[in-house]
Parts: sequence; C-alpha cells; structure tokens
Amino acid sequence: MSKKYVYLFSEGNANMRELLGGKGANLAEMTNIGLPVPQGFTITTEACTQYYEDGQKINNGIQAEIMEHITKLEGITGKKFGDLENPLLVSVRSGARASMPGMMDTILNLGLNEDVVDVLAKKSGNPRWAWDCYRRFIQMYSDVVMEVGKKYFEQLIDQMKEARGVTQDVELTADDLKELAGQFKAEYKSKIGQDFPTDPKEQLMGAIKAVFRSWDNPRANVYRRDNDIPYSWGTAVNVQSMAFGNMGDDCGTGVAFTRNPATGEKKLFGEFLTNAQGEDVVAGIRTPMPISEMSEKFPEAFAQFEKVCKILEDHYHDMQDMEFTVENGKLYMLQTRNGKRTPAAALKIACDLVDEGMIDEKQAVAMIDPRTLDTLLHPQFDGEVLKKTPVIGSALAASPGAACGKVVFSAEDAKAWAERGEKVVLVRLETSPEDIEGMKAAQGILTVRGGMTSHAAVVARGMGKCCVSGCGAIKMDEENKQFELAGKTFHEGDWLSIDGSTGKIYDGAIPTVDASIGGEFGRVMGWADQYRRLKVRTNADTPHDAAQARKFGAEGIGLCRTEHMFFDADRIPAIRRMICSDTVEQREAALAVLEPMQQSDFEGIYEAMEGLPVTIRFLDPPLHEFVPTEEADIELLAKDMGKSVAEIKAIIAGLHEFNPMMGHRGCRLAVTYPEIAAMQTRAVIKAALNVQAKHPEWTMVPEIMIPLVGEVKELAYVKKVVVETADAIIKEAGSNMKYLVGTMIEIPRAALTADEIAKQADFFSFGTNDLTQMTFGFSRDDAGKFLDAYYDKKIYENDPFAKLDQTGVGKLVDMACKMGRATNPELHLGVCGEHGGDPSSVEFFHRTGLDYVSCSPFRVPIARLAAAQAAIKDEK
Ligand code: PEP
Ligand code: MG
Repeated sequence: MSKKYVYLFSEGNANMRELLGGKGANLAEMTNIGLPVPQGFTITTEACTQYYEDGQKINNGIQAEIMEHITKLEGITGKKFGDLENPLLVSVRSGARASMPGMMDTILNLGLNEDVVDVLAKKSGNPRWAWDCYRRFIQMYSDVVMEVGKKYFEQLIDQMKEARGVTQDVELTADDLKELAGQFKAEYKSKIGQDFPTDPKEQLMGAIKAVFRSWDNPRANVYRRDNDIPYSWGTAVNVQSMAFGNMGDDCGTGVAFTRNPATGEKKLFGEFLTNAQGEDVVAGIRTPMPISEMSEKFPEAFAQFEKVCKILEDHYHDMQDMEFTVENGKLYMLQTRNGKRTPAAALKIACDLVDEGMIDEKQAVAMIDPRTLDTLLHPQFDGEVLKKTPVIGSALAASPGAACGKVVFSAEDAKAWAERGEKVVLVRLETSPEDIEGMKAAQGILTVRGGMTSHAAVVARGMGKCCVSGCGAIKMDEENKQFELAGKTFHEGDWLSIDGSTGKIYDGAIPTVDASIGGEFGRVMGWADQYRRLKVRTNADTPHDAAQARKFGAEGIGLCRTEHMFFDADRIPAIRRMICSDTVEQREAALAVLEPMQQSDFEGIYEAMEGLPVTIRFLDPPLHEFVPTEEADIELLAKDMGKSVAEIKAIIAGLHEFNPMMGHRGCRLAVTYPEIAAMQTRAVIKAALNVQAKHPEWTMVPEIMIPLVGEVKELAYVKKVVVETADAIIKEAGSNMKYLVGTMIEIPRAALTADEIAKQADFFSFGTNDLTQMTFGFSRDDAGKFLDAYYDKKIYENDPFAKLDQTGVGKLVDMACKMGRATNPELHLGVCGEHGGDPSSVEFFHRTGLDYVSCSPFRVPIARLAAAQAAIKDEK
C-alpha cells in the first residue's frame, strides 16, 4: 500500500505526533474526545520530507491526496472550496513534532477571492467582516507565501487610518477595508508582477509549500539548534476550516493557559480580543483584555471554555496552552499543547500535579526541561541597591530574571554589541521572530507593545531570558535610536535595568546577586537523585567554585585543572621561572616555590568537598599561554632569573608552536620534565594527608589524572614518577592512605588502544573537548569561525563542542569503555568535557555505562536531572 500523506483530524490521535506534528496530533485528539474543533486534515511530516526530496515540490500524488481531503472536508462541513453559495475557507498552519512558537508561518481565510467575498458579505449581512477577512488573507499570503514583506501593507493600513482619522483597525469600515484590499492587490502586483491568485486550489498549494519552506527559514534553524530539534523531523501542515473571531462584537479570539505560565499558579491565565482574528493576540498589535473579563462579555462561551480546560488538563496531565475562537458566541478550539513555562513555573506545576495525584514523581522529573534550570540559579538584582533605585516604569513581567545592560534598539545591534563583550538590553516597539538572535544575545528584552502571550514573551520565557513587555509609557523613536520614559530620554548605550519577575524598569545599572534555591527545586532534585544511576561531579579549580558546586549537589570533583591555579598575578612569575628554566636544578628551584601554593590550594579544595572524591589533573597548559608578551614583563622575568632580555626572548621564541593545542602540553610536559609531575604528586599527597589528619571521619583517596595520553607507555612512564613519589611520602607519614592514578581519554589513539591503557589506569575520564577537537580534526578555538557555514548547509546541526557527536566521538567513547573494562573490570569511568552538562550527551553517557559525568558548577543540577531522565527513559 502506498504511503498515506494526509489524515483527517478524525483519523489521528495524540500518539501520532511524529507523523502529524504536535498541533495535528492534538487537534485529532481533541476531535476524538468530543471537543468543539473546526474540522480539517493534517498533511504529514513525511510529506514535508518528501517535498524537500522532490526538490521543493509537492508531487502530483500528494497534491491529489490533499485535494481528495478537501473534498472530504467539503462533505463534513457542507461548504465548498471557491463556491459562490456556501464557500469553504480554511487556515493553513505549520505544526512540527516539538512546538516552535512563532517560528513558522500561518495563513488564515484561504479560499477567498472577490466573488467569494461578495457572497460572504451578502449572506452574512456583514460586509465589514468579509472584507476584513479578505484584506487579512492578501496580507498574510503576500507575506508568507510570496515574501513581499508585511511592512508595505502595514504602511497602507496606517495611511488609511490616518486618512479616516481613526487609531484602531476595528474602526475601519467595510468600504475602507474593501478599498484596502484593492490597494493590497495592487501592491502585490507591483511587487510580484502578477495578479493575486484567485483560484483556491492554487492558493492552497502555495500556502502548504510556504509552510514546508518555513521549516528551513533562518529563525526556525536557530530555534531548532537551541532546542535540540533535528532538521530531519520536518513539519506537518494543518488545514482547518475557519471559525471567525472577527465577525462582530459577539466574536473574538483568545490564547490561554490552564495555569499561570510565569508562576505556575493554578489559575486560568490568558488574553482575549473581541472582534479579532488569531494572530492579533500573539502579534501584540492590539493589547488584549485578561481572560477573566471574557466571563462578563461571553458568559456561555467562557463557561464552556473552563470546562474544556479541565477536560484537557485531566486528559494530558499537564498544563495546557490553548488557542480558541468565539464565533457568534460559540466556542471553537483551535489548538492545545503542553504550555511553555518559566523554569520556576515548571517546578511548581510538576510538584502541584504530583500533589493533586495527576502524575507520579517520575513523571514530574521527566516533564522538566533540564536546560531551563540554569536560569533559576542565575543572579537576581541586589536587594539593597534595588530599594534605593527609583522605578521609572513598569509593564508586564513576561519572563523572570534580572537584566542590566546598555540600551540597543535592534536585534543586529544586540548581537554585534554582545559579540564585542557588551551587556545589552534590547528595547523594541514589539518583537517578531526575526529578532531571535538579538534576543539571545541580550541580557533582557523590553518591549513597548504586546501582552503576556506576545512573541517576545513566549520566546523569552522559552529561552529563560528576562523580558518585560508592553510598556506603553515608552515613547519610542527607533529611527533615532532613543526613547522617552518618565521624562528622560534614553539613548543607545545608556544603562538600563529590568526585572522580568516584577515587570519593573530602572534607570541605570543595578548589580546582581546569586540566586537562592529551595522549595520545589529541592523537591524535584530530590526525586531526580532517587532515580539516576550516573553520579554527578563538577569541574572546579578553586575552593569557592567547589563549594558552589556542592550547594548544587555535586558529588565530587571530576576535573581540577591545575594550570588554572597559576593565572593569578602573584603566581605567574613562579610558573614563568619554571617554564624558562634551562637546567633541572633551576626548574626544581622554581617548582619548590610553586609546591606550597599547590598544596594549600588542594587542601582548600579537599576541605570544600568534605571528603568527597576529587580528581586532580596534572598540568596541561600549552606553555605559550604562560610566557610573557609585554616588554616590561619580559624585563622583569629576565631580572628575576638573572638572564638577559635577549636570552628570555630566545627562550620564548623557542617555545613558539604552530599548533599549541597539539603541542607540548599534557603528559608530554611530564615526559620531558618529570620533576613537574613529582612536584604535583607531592602537593596532592601531602595535602590529602594533612586534610585526612584534620578530618579522621573522612576517607581521603586522592585521584591523580594524567592528561593527553595517547600511548600506554607514556602513561606508564608518568605513573612511575607519581607512584614512586607518592609511596615514599605516604610511607614517611606512616599512613596507609590509598590513591588512584588514572588518565584522560581525549586523544583518539587512547580510545583506540583503551584495552592497553586500562591496564595502567585506575580510571578513565573522557576529555570530550579534546576528543572532539582531535576526532573532527578542527580546533576547538577556531571552529566557531566556520561552523555557521556548516549549519547553513546542514552538514552539522549542532556545535559538536556543546553537544556530543554520538555517531563519531561517541563511538570512540563507547568503544574505549568496552575495551577498557575488558582488561580492567574495576576501571572507573567518567567524563569531564563540557558535554558532561549537556542533557542529550548525559543521556548518551548513561546509556554507555559511565559511572559519572562532571560539569561546571551551575550545570550540576542540569546534569542531575538529565541523568534521572535518562534512567527513567531506560526503564521504559
Ligand atoms: C577535555 O579536553 O575535554 C578536557 C576536559 O580538558 P581541557 O578542556 O582542559 O582540555
Ligand atoms: Mg583536554
């Protein structure tokens, strides 16, 4: 049987998300449970893939199937496409497997032409409505399908409003709108060179193609990359008969959440606009009324809507985000989905649902996106300074968090300023999806127009980015890059602070303080800890970071980069002396200065970790990072070492490497200068012995990690230095303290020979930063310069330094684990590359059977939750 590409809503269900997309599957489900859904059909995600395979064409087979379903829809609705008696109008909307709010395109009122408009106008006795539908359709079709650009049409509307002396679209009359439709069509013709299409079938195919095409638009690509949505999924297209919210004052359209998406409070939350159509609410063009007011204007429809909300929550066991329309007092459901929410709301909703008996603890853990936890842990404004800073305005608290930065007025500027290290607040009249990259680059977003469900609010919330929206008090002058608020003119570059949790706006910069966590966060993390198998450690090089990570639940340190301990101004001379020594004696003298510093650092870290395991990695710096470049520093070093400036310069020149990342670093240093490894061993072991003596209740087992090993003999050589040194100190101290010596697996050759290496190692820690760099053969420092081209060409969908390349690098990890355990069943396995804090990579490490992941302190909770989710998924 040939593949079926089109499904009536009555043929689908919620489990068919992959094929029908989220919107299509839920429209089908709502149909099945008897909710009032205008009927329609869904063109599958496979049709989208086929469209791209066919060279961006909808093939004849699929076109025929679509038209068959139009016929079926005509049968269901009793209306006919293009008919002059009872015309069928449809909406065409995208709907991917994962929701991508505002990322793709929508067309409403499709099927209209002048003849049909006349019929509608006469039959309904409401010519204003008929012409409003038509002008909207021309506008959307021109913009979305033909890419003419909205602004030309908006200018025409503004001109018309000005000419009529009105301020709102709804004040335009039927004749005005008719005239506008004519102007729009003329505009279309002047831009496209052809008449606006009148044949509904042609309109339909054009619209479907545009939705498929929108899957590949730049903002959708950026959104996908940020949200781990694979390009290969494609989008479905939903064709649905229209319900009209713009037929008059007993009509309207709304967007609502069953619970508050900002706080999680269990209370219907949303907005409603009378006499309006779909996009008006989310576009933020008119400021809508709160949903509660709907109960006064539309008591029956509102009562029915409340019932529907309850049915949907009970059905989906989650907070729902719904779109609906009221046509002549009757309610129609256009969409439902699990609503996007702030991280704080996500935790509250999960806990409430458990307490309400709607879900169990595992489901609660599984429903929280680990990536969003980050924002909960991020700084808030300093309360003291905040109290003293006057509020200059306030608007909707659209997405929580505190942001402070310099004012910029465009997404491009936000990006450019952020790239040069400036903190910015993006101030816009309203945002549109094209602004996504600028929003990402900004600390926060402030908009003049738009409600809680406007694009800016929804997208910022999804990103966990602070956003204050709808500040109508701002007098905006985008052209001259300035605005006026509270009697003051703000120019580009002026400091501004905004609070996305309260909606308040402050003049100037307010410092921020660390977030405090607890309550629901603790509850959910506690559940997560019960279900995960992977341990979570942290990468930390200072007692402060170690203590921070402990607060976030780190169960040890997986990577302490010892070279980071030498960046301080008072330490760098000592390490420079070590690097520029030309005899062993000189080097040992320099190392003798470094040793007590290292030892006390290690003691501090051991204390902070309270007896938990700590892996200390031996020196791994590309040496050139440490040599002086400034003339004054060179002179100082020369004086310090009793050498001439010329001699020091010659040493520096000798240290120059063409490719330092592949140069004299890692264990190669210890092979050339074993005294470095000996010094570090002394510092580690002595520190552990001291801390053990102070804390007999802890069992100190120091873990020494040798980096950048590619050959077992390399490891064996350095290990011998370590063991001889350590054993002597432990013996001298009369202690029986155990210690471990392990290695990083970060060179492909180490992974390929893991069976041999494991014979010399107590543990492996995968350094997936270097392993990625060396497996791909591109520099971790420079890849950013060309990766964009790879994303654009769909060669890579993600930055492999952020999200593990499971196919290639992952294969090496998997292989090394198996080979290592085969020759050393006791081998302890972990990862300490950046991927240790990335949820999809954590899932991979869980499946691969690692014992722990290690990541930066702020990502520890993310890793804990991701590890639990991986374990829960595994059970299924
Ligand atoms: C790694 O390479 O993954 C690693 C953790 O080490 P570094 O980033 O210090 O090279
Ligand atoms: Mg490395």
